[in-house]
Amino acid sequence: CGTPRVRMTVRSNAVTVVPILTKLQKDCATPLPVLRHVADAMAADMRAGLAVDGGSDLKMILSYVDSLPTGNEKGLFYALDLGGTNFRVLRVQLGGKDERVVATEFEQMSIPQELMFGTSEELFDFIASGLAKFAQEEGGKFHLPHGRKREIGFTFSFPVKQTSIDSGILMKWTKGFAVSGTAGRDVVACLNEAMERLGLDMRVSALVNDTVGTLAGARYWDDDVMVAVILGTGTNACYVERTDAIPKLQGQNSTSGRTIINTEWGAFSNGLPLTEFDRDMDAKSVNPGEQIFEKTISGMYLGEIVRRVLLKMAEAGALFGESVPENLCTPFVLRTPDISAMQQDTSQDLEAVESILYNVAGVKSNLSMRKIIMDVCDTIVKRGGRLAGAGIVGILQKMEEDSKGLIFGKRTVVAMDGGLYEHYPQYRRYLQDAVTELLGWEISKNVVIEHSKDGSGIGAALLAATNSQYEHDF
Ligand code: BGC
Ligand code: MG
Repeated sequence: CGTPRVRMTVRSNAVTVVPILTKLQKDCATPLPVLRHVADAMAADMRAGLAVDGGSDLKMILSYVDSLPTGNEKGLFYALDLGGTNFRVLRVQLGGKDERVVATEFEQMSIPQELMFGTSEELFDFIASGLAKFAQEEGGKFHLPHGRKREIGFTFSFPVKQTSIDSGILMKWTKGFAVSGTAGRDVVACLNEAMERLGLDMRVSALVNDTVGTLAGARYWDDDVMVAVILGTGTNACYVERTDAIPKLQGQNSTSGRTIINTEWGAFSNGLPLTEFDRDMDAKSVNPGEQIFEKTISGMYLGEIVRRVLLKMAEAGALFGESVPENLCTPFVLRTPDISAMQQDTSQDLEAVESILYNVAGVKSNLSMRKIIMDVCDTIVKRGGRLAGAGIVGILQKMEEDSKGLIFGKRTVVAMDGGLYEHYPQYRRYLQDAVTELLGWEISKNVVIEHSKDGSGIGAALLAATNSQYEHDF
């Protein structure tokens, strides 16, 4: 882009583009041995991260969530959810065993782009004012006992080193965030300060990762949930671990003997089939060298990888004829929802693909180009889905090794959430295929991969209830 190309003749694009596609398919291939290697490496990295802090790419963060919701939780709770793309506030009225979730109300807003590059104060002021506005709408409907503050479960979907159930330090930003002044600070303190600036008197009772919220939310309905995975803008997984399998806890057992571990698997990097496009994208990112698994399988990046491949096909292979479409030079113009929409096109002449390419990238295409572009999308999405599946198997494998038969010998549920998982059927299918291939038909029948839509909001509210600082329900 930007460098004019000198070309004497217009080359036929099939001849020059097909080798690029063939090489891409080869570099992205995930046959069973590759998947097996990834699953084994995931399990090994988990162990290394549990042994000592900093022992592996996987941080294996202690969540301080030692008891999961039982169904008995009661009362009015709030949840805040700061993810990668959206910010959400939620109000939940829990009615205990029989009534369960009596009512929920929520509001969602997208995070203004400029806040991702601003200051910590700006970001937390935005969160606190969204909460304040939403809390005001409660309008005195609920009366809390005198002196009792409204409690919040705060879902903060970034790597946080928890220091207790209601405090934790941001280790680094991910998912394109580059807010200054938050890394190294307690994010609950940041929120409290912003609430004070607004005169809002609420209390964070639980600080949780979105995976942990999802696990808690799904577990509320189903006792067999042992793992939760987010596949959205970013990606991560958490699971229920035995405290005696966590050497870095040094004997500090919880009463339940179990705790949730936030793996932060987005940082995994061992043995992944990567291409020149992945390496270039990583080098140009705000966090080079970090979150390599995330950059290979999550929603923020799949469309961008495809764009980079198409750009190379345009520049080196004249995919779009003599000139390179200018829009294709803009990073992140092609989003994962666009490539998903293209892959849903089953029409003979790929009309939807044509219009998406034109609207999004300003690209005019003929049918043979569109077929190649579909193959590129499929290659990148297949790799992503299959590697995600291998990651899940790695976690299950580690759990099974420590407790023979308790994972593979009975029904085990993996709760899934995130826009990528929810809205990309091909991705979901590739993920499930990889899990089945790796585990074999018999065992994979026991592993239920289930969508738990927006479970993390209710999950955070439930954990606020479980960890409430007040004695009695009201
Ligand atoms: C963050 C995780 C989070 C995941 C999914 C990653 O970028 O590091 O903490 O769970 O995205 O939202
Ligand atoms: Mg989210």
